[in-house]
Amino acid sequence: MNIFCKNRINLKFRNSELLLDPKAMDSSASCIFVSHAHMDHLPRSKKKPNFTPTAVCSEATARLFFERMGYKIQQNNAWKNDEFKIKTLPGGHTFDSTVAEIIDLESSQNIVYTGDVNIEDRGYLKGFEPKKCDILILEATWGDRDYRFPSFEKQIEQAKEFIRNELEKGYPVALLGYPLGKSQLLNYCLGNLCETRYSSNSIWKMEQVHKELGLELFETNKLPQNPDEEGLVGNDPWLLFYNHVGIRDPTLSKLKTKYNLKVVGFSGWAKNLENYKYRMGADAAFTISDHSDYSSLLEIVKESNPSKIFTVFGNAQDLARDLQKNGFNAVPLKEGQSTLDNFF
Ligand SMILES: [Zn+2]
Repeated sequence: MNIFCKNRINLKFRNSELLLDPKAMDSSASCIFVSHAHMDHLPRSKKKPNFTPTAVCSEATARLFFERMGYKIQQNNAWKNDEFKIKTLPGGHTFDSTVAEIIDLESSQNIVYTGDVNIEDRGYLKGFEPKKCDILILEATWGDRDYRFPSFEKQIEQAKEFIRNELEKGYPVALLGYPLGKSQLLNYCLGNLCETRYSSNSIWKMEQVHKELGLELFETNKLPQNPDEEGLVGNDPWLLFYNHVGIRDPTLSKLKTKYNLKVVGFSGWAKNLENYKYRMGADAAFTISDHSDYSSLLEIVKESNPSKIFTVFGNAQDLARDLQKNGFNAVPLKEGQSTLDNFF
């Protein structure tokens, strides 16, 4: 089996091919794996292929894939042929996101591909439990040693305190997060702080899909088209779940002027607190990421104890270098690279 960084990640066996989070659907592949439905893990073109791809992913990911791409994939929890078998493990990144465990039946090696991953238990998300493997393909979003985060619980407690205070003073509060993943987590953990809740259009849509999938969330109202003109509720403060955009966003900026809205950002980038607050025009920010921080990435490596590591996405170079220093056999997987066996 060879691993290529082509069409995102490509595992080539003697007679068959497995694509991991492919950028383009390819009918010559036996099977694809979709870790979750963030755009940077989905095909780039929304054009429906002229075949129905056989996919390994969770039911939730298949549903969210349809929501985002507009066509269906044939969902399987596991799949096998004569050369490999693949199954999913909980990934802890977004609702029912998964990690792939692949067994090369010829060499009996097992390969773990993390997709995007988080090992911390957070709200309804059970953290990924690292698994012993021979080859680890590891995401490196926070693969830089400066990105070590406080615990999720602590950040949520501090956020609750800030939000409660502002609401008590009579100010409405906007919680900024990505529409898929972060916003549902914020709704789940912080939605009970206020009876009156609004969501941006895209977050509201994702709320409905997640409710269909069985996730219990607090009900929100769709933010009116022209909230500054149409007016929101009377004098009571409210919570707004809004996309991860800065205060230069016209709607957010108008709401801030009209209602004295307090803006709270949630992101791993908030590690550089003042810089992040300035960039986003946020009144407060909390370091909450859907990805494992640097320390957790090292923990995944130690517990998986692989003989080869390929780092992908984000700070792949930095993480591979640090892992090499710690005695691990690690290389960054770069776009356009041919067979990686050359490295070992
Ligand atoms: Zn993601």
